[in-house]
Amino acid sequence: MKRHFALVTLLVFCYALPSQGGEFDAERRKMMEEVLADAAATFSYSGSPALSPGVIAAMEKVERHRFVPAGLAAAAYLNRPLPIGYGQTISQPFIVALMTDLVKVKAGDKVLEIGTGSGYQAAVLAEMGSSVYSIEIIEPLGKQAGGLLKTLGYRNVETRVGDGYYGWPEAAPFDAIMVTAAASHVPPPLVRQLKPGGRMVIPLGTQFLTQYLMLVEKRMDGSVTSRQILPVRFVPLTGGH
Ligand code: SAH
Repeated sequence: MKRHFALVTLLVFCYALPSQGGEFDAERRKMMEEVLADAAATFSYSGSPALSPGVIAAMEKVERHRFVPAGLAAAAYLNRPLPIGYGQTISQPFIVALMTDLVKVKAGDKVLEIGTGSGYQAAVLAEMGSSVYSIEIIEPLGKQAGGLLKTLGYRNVETRVGDGYYGWPEAAPFDAIMVTAAASHVPPPLVRQLKPGGRMVIPLGTQFLTQYLMLVEKRMDGSVTSRQILPVRFVPLTGGH
């Protein structure tokens, strides 16, 4: 009898709660449907039948409209890259989901991101419970993203301005590394900063020719393997290297 009473009270309480709905919740749900459809359609490339529940939950949570210029908020939940200024782009949501899935991050993992850009990918990684270290070469972008991530309460993200080609040696080794700009080759400093058993995703290729998203794995014995995942299109990795 007592238990029955508790259940009724709980139900009444739940119904009485104010709605938690945010401004773009419906748009974000629709975006997720497209992301899941893309993931299913590219199964033969990625080898992964579906995105992991953790990746889906993180993508459902992060408010992409906070990471795009104010004038583009209404377009934020299109499954498309969008301009963020300085000739750079925020990646397409499906690509963010796929890259996050490929590195298989777990809570507590240390993850290095090269190319903070808007800070969106860093936020998704932080929602997975990892400690994120993110480097951006364009100072105003890096500072803006760092400030935004702090404002949004992401305490497990550290950002810095610099050339990500050389990684973040003081924070190494990393369980995972994500490069979000296209490079001509896998930067050796990043391979060194990857833990044995760690994974790196990186788009390889030139700006105007086909680029491939690559999954690089460092085995426990230190040997490195790599596998092509998908043709992609990223802005180039710049810097003096
Ligand atoms: N991850 C970003 C996508 C950014 S686009 C997001 O979620 O919004 C790629 C970014 O990489 C750009 O902002 C570009 O300035 C940056 N970049 C290019 N070369 C770099 C380098 N050598 N080191 C660090 N960042 C670099």
